Amino acid sequence: MAVEASPPTLFSPWPDRLRHSAIILLAAGLALIALVMFGELSPTRAGIAFACIAGAALVPWRLHDVATSREEVLGDNPVEAPAVRAIIAGMPDPAVLLDRAGRVIHFNGAAAQLAPALRKNELAQFALRSPEIVTALRESIATTEPRRATYLDHVPVDRWMELIITPLSVPTAFGGLDTCMLLTFHDQTPLRRVEEMRADFVANASHELRTPLAALSGFIETLQGPAKDDAKARERFLGIMHTQARRMARLIDDLLSLSRVELTAHVRPDMQVDILPIIRQVGDGLEPLAAERHVKIEMALPDAPVVIAGDREELLRLFENLIENALKYGASGGRVVVSVTAAATGEGVPEVRVAVRDFGPGIAPEHLPRLTERFYRVDVGDSRAQGGTGLGLSLVKHILNRHRGRLLIESVPKNGATFTAAFPKVPSAVN
Ligand code: ADP
Repeated sequence: MAVEASPPTLFSPWPDRLRHSAIILLAAGLALIALVMFGELSPTRAGIAFACIAGAALVPWRLHDVATSREEVLGDNPVEAPAVRAIIAGMPDPAVLLDRAGRVIHFNGAAAQLAPALRKNELAQFALRSPEIVTALRESIATTEPRRATYLDHVPVDRWMELIITPLSVPTAFGGLDTCMLLTFHDQTPLRRVEEMRADFVANASHELRTPLAALSGFIETLQGPAKDDAKARERFLGIMHTQARRMARLIDDLLSLSRVELTAHVRPDMQVDILPIIRQVGDGLEPLAAERHVKIEMALPDAPVVIAGDREELLRLFENLIENALKYGASGGRVVVSVTAAATGEGVPEVRVAVRDFGPGIAPEHLPRLTERFYRVDVGDSRAQGGTGLGLSLVKHILNRHRGRLLIESVPKNGATFTAAFPKVPSAVN
């Protein structure tokens, strides 16, 4: 923040001015005395002359003093007043008040953080060096109409700020009107991010649907044309078409599940459910896939029921995604271990942890933070070949969020991966 000078006082320049007047009067007095002593001037005339000189020396100074003290007390511009400074300082968003020429009068702490080069009495454009802002400011000053501009800040992270320039009519010290420019910045970063995510999501979803659709259209054309009477080719193509149709159906299912979970994200499930039968049911359902991939599913489950507040259908989807991923991507390890344990968060809050461990190739550390992003895959080709949609872990994360739980991912490349779903423990739950 800029430090403002202390307010001027009425008598602060007094000694300097008095000294000048005194020197003039002393010199005049000495000259007049000399003239009287040499008989060149009568004492009466000398007295009148001294009075005139004294008046000439003192009266303009008094007038000047009255005029400047009025300016100093009122201020050249009432917007310089501490009350205005306090209002600008109290604004939650970055705010800068400029005079008509674009010079900074006041700015608040948030503005100083956003544009550290801002200085009082300097042109704001030196500190906000974006051409868009400089143009908007010039136009707003010239037309006295509001203007908007985008301010991009890249340090320490990318931020999109919308700048609104509002011309204000303010009273001057002598009863007239002057124009000031109020600059306020509004952080649009969260909105931009959501907008980017929405656009990415639509682009990804359309791309994922278009690929199998294009394959289906291609095979239909082939079956209607060149392969019309080729029974062997027809069999093979129909098989591929069936796979592609299933892929589209799975993608639509996952998209619908995601949007359903998002819709109810704010409502925490309150049914008390024992998760052990759900895990066993998922394990049994995935036995054919495990057999196909030559993987053994091992269940390390406690005997007593493990009850959490949850939504049965969503928990089924969650465990199914984790165990199916372990079977698909970690098949080379030959084993998948599903375990349920009681643990605690870093803050000591008790939780129930369901860990799915595989002994496959694992995941390189750079991919771990992005795995729950929609459509993110370590290897797109591998995921598609496995019938993946890239939405499974995103769904898992959303389901866990709704259950006020969290997903922990640990992996050592070449040594498998462990995906752990941690749920808050129900106080009365027996483990
Ligand atoms: P997909 O439908 O592709 O399986 P997911 O969201 O379930 O989508 O998983 C995202 C990506 O995470 C997968 O494509 C895969 O690359 C990686 N992945 C998930 N689970 C495992 C695992 N157990 N071992 C190795 N990679 C995994």
